[in-house]
Amino acid sequence: MNFSNIRIVLVETSHSGNIGSAARAMMNMGLTRLVLVKPRQWPSQDAISMAVSAVSLLETAVVVDTLEEAVADCHVVIGTSARLRTMPIPLLDPEQCAAKALSMPPPQQVALVFGREISGLTNAELHRCHYHVHIPVNPDYSSLNLAAAVMVLCYELRKYALTRPQLLPVPATLHGNKLDDGGAWDQEPATAEELDRYLTHLEAVLIRLDFHKPQYKRPLMLRLRRLYQRLQLDKMEVSILRGMLTATEQALRAGKFPVENPTNTSDS
Ligand code: SAH
Repeated sequence: MNFSNIRIVLVETSHSGNIGSAARAMMNMGLTRLVLVKPRQWPSQDAISMAVSAVSLLETAVVVDTLEEAVADCHVVIGTSARLRTMPIPLLDPEQCAAKALSMPPPQQVALVFGREISGLTNAELHRCHYHVHIPVNPDYSSLNLAAAVMVLCYELRKYALTRPQLLPVPATLHGNKLDDGGAWDQEPATAEELDRYLTHLEAVLIRLDFHKPQYKRPLMLRLRRLYQRLQLDKMEVSILRGMLTATEQALRAGKFPVENPTNTSDS
């Protein structure tokens, strides 16, 4: 069973004992890659105590400052939250989450992202994710302990992989990237960092075109991010889109805009 391309990301965990319990849950289920975004206290004796025999996983944990860094090289990012949001992203249940993660074998990279004990993931953080997983618990008390939530999703991954041994391994040459009908895709998927760079470029051009007016604080860029994440662009598509933006910038610089609308040259 190969979960080497699936990382568990814990964002700003306050109780380091929870990090230890999450590590233990991961090791029980065969996952090994833990990424910590700004843990409140690290390294931590509480984490070591709660990890029991999974201490090695704490030792190899990667600590970063931002969620962007934690998922920069990922092709699919799956966020977890007990709460539904007013601007939703595609929702998965835990089994669908396992199916999605395991449809992306190495070398593609997958992140499962978990939020803070008190406040979970912010809307902006969840909007960096392609999918939102909700564990269907008692609606009158829907917030699980962080490590319990990690356990549920890691268990689903293991269960899914155990019942479908044919899933692994997939030849790396196809990048494991399949169309819904089972056919192979011809390009590698874009990473989160490549999409980020495209969206930064797009925002700059839309501001120059006066289409995007940041001072109005409309969620335009959030909606565009959601649109592009839903499409799960490949590297070639991102590169074409970047090329179109560059051509737009060059035309702006050369003063080719605004272009006269030929239908406006009226003879009336
Ligand atoms: N009070 C917070 C919940 C924090 S629980 C809130 O309202 O968002 C800590 C983390 O565990 C969450 O950020 C999420 O990553 C995970 N979690 C807890 N319950 C969950 C559920 N029912 N479905 C999915 N993830 C859950």
